[in-house]
Amino acid sequence: MKRVILIKYGELSTKKGNRNFFISTLEKNIKNKLEGFDVSIFKDRSRMYIEFHESDLDKIKEKLDCVFGIHMYHIAYIVETNIDAIKELLIRLVKDLDFKTFKVEVKRSNKSFPIHSQEMNHLLGGVVLKNKEGISVDVHHPELLIKVEIRNQNSYIYFNAYNGAGGYPVGTQPKGMLMLSGGIDSPVSGYLALKRGIPIDCVYFEAIPHTSLEARNKVIELSKKLAKYTNEIHLHVVNFTKIQEEIYKNCHPNYCITIMRRMMYRIMEKLAIKYHGLCIINGESVGQVASQTLTSMRVINEVTCMPVLRPVACFDKLEIISLAKKIDTYNISILPYEDCCTVFVPKHPVINPSLEQAHLEEEKFDFEPLIEEAVLEVNTIVVKEENHEFSDLL
Ligand code: ATP
Ligand code: MG
Repeated sequence: MKRVILIKYGELSTKKGNRNFFISTLEKNIKNKLEGFDVSIFKDRSRMYIEFHESDLDKIKEKLDCVFGIHMYHIAYIVETNIDAIKELLIRLVKDLDFKTFKVEVKRSNKSFPIHSQEMNHLLGGVVLKNKEGISVDVHHPELLIKVEIRNQNSYIYFNAYNGAGGYPVGTQPKGMLMLSGGIDSPVSGYLALKRGIPIDCVYFEAIPHTSLEARNKVIELSKKLAKYTNEIHLHVVNFTKIQEEIYKNCHPNYCITIMRRMMYRIMEKLAIKYHGLCIINGESVGQVASQTLTSMRVINEVTCMPVLRPVACFDKLEIISLAKKIDTYNISILPYEDCCTVFVPKHPVINPSLEQAHLEEEKFDFEPLIEEAVLEVNTIVVKEENHEFSDLL
């Protein structure tokens, strides 16, 4: 009895105009993720089917669980679309299953199949009742739900349902540039952006020798976790040391964070242009720290007209943490290495900065050449998903 993985697109179905693009992107992503497995993939307008070797099933499921654009999937028995063949397979399948109550739900997508869904429900229900003892139909709370999909050449019978990762296939939107620090929030923001179909490049600002190589490794490990949901990730490491030192030498301490973040945004915009990204993504969350009040955001955001996505802007910290745990970044994020933002934290960062003051502070040093240099000398690391567990830093 041959089984296939039957994939339902979910949210995709609502995207009428772009449907083919969405489906072909999803197919490409699934093929990428299942590289190395001996599988065949087929698709039609509302379903995708994967033929696989039974011994690979668990590993394939693990991969599929990280592919956005899959709403739900089933491990389904495949049979030719012929009433006798369907009945015969159903009888064989239910014989081996242990249940007391059941319900049959038929979906007839093949409108040329002569028996209508409702009639098929009764017919197949009757077949099950006749071929197994001690069972009855329960349409409200059946122990076993038997789903039958009548499609063109083949039909499918299944009893299980697995939730997919949801969202849109990565690549259905243009690229975004994720500001990835070693903290809890930005990896979660990256995950949420990927889930909307946005492929990401990551950008990490480091200030060696004030920050350590361990801090950079932490960001590499976080990128690997995000790479599970997409292909390889390009992590651009920006040397931020000179800029940061100049800020702390010249600007009023209370404005250092504001100015530092304006510099980061300027560099992000230039990197976005350099690497063809259309937006900046970060882990800012309204009110979380001084630089994330709305007034601060407005002053920091002034330096760019590029859209800035803040996927966790309105999440509570606990909500962010629970997502971080779900995507397995939390234990890496809480490792104690200093980030460039934490090394230089002033005693009293301004909570309500003014634009005028920010401009005055920036007149105190010539930052343009430093920004050009940082963009020019960016160091790109290609990060791939790894199967072994993160351990060397723990
Ligand atoms: P996170 O937990 O993501 O580090 P945070 O609460 O510590 O966030 P901030 O340090 O104020 O907040 O940073 C806000 C956002 O700015 C981060 O979520 C991240 O997107 C970006 N950011 C901060 N520091 C860096 C850095 N060193 N490199 C890249 N992006 C950074
Ligand atoms: Mg941080």
